[in-house]
Amino acid sequence: MRAVKARDTGPERIVRRLAYAIAPGYRLHRRDIPGRPDLAYVARKRAIFVHGCFWHGHSCARGAREPRTNVTYWREKIERNRARDRAIMRRLRRTGWRVLVLWECELRAEERLKKRLARFLEAQCATRPPHGSRARSCGALLTMRR
Ligand SMILES: [Zn+2]
Repeated sequence: MRAVKARDTGPERIVRRLAYAIAPGYRLHRRDIPGRPDLAYVARKRAIFVHGCFWHGHSCARGAREPRTNVTYWREKIERNRARDRAIMRRLRRTGWRVLVLWECELRAEERLKKRLARFLEAQCATRPPHGSRARSCGALLTMRR
């Protein structure tokens, strides 16, 4: 067990701290899960990604910031990151995982973040809705927003 630092800074740390308070059993960066999620609850099949707004091309102010040099290079790189992110999400969902993407810019609103994490981690529902079911599935929890 690692010592708890006096202050958790950094995007991932914030999420770990809040997730730990709700459900401590996560694993970090598991190589055997597509995309090596920042946090993964293996038995519950829930994966959490903490995305940097610039690197993953978020639609917020930080994500829209243009690099000063090598603009084309960075744009292409970020586009590749986004494409890879999408592919990873698809792969995870196809194999029954539920995914929560948290953007760096969303982490400051801690109360809100706590609620989202609690909903995501505590929601009890089938991985897939029953065949032909019109009920809202847990897919509603899938955050693919950007
Ligand atoms: Zn953002």
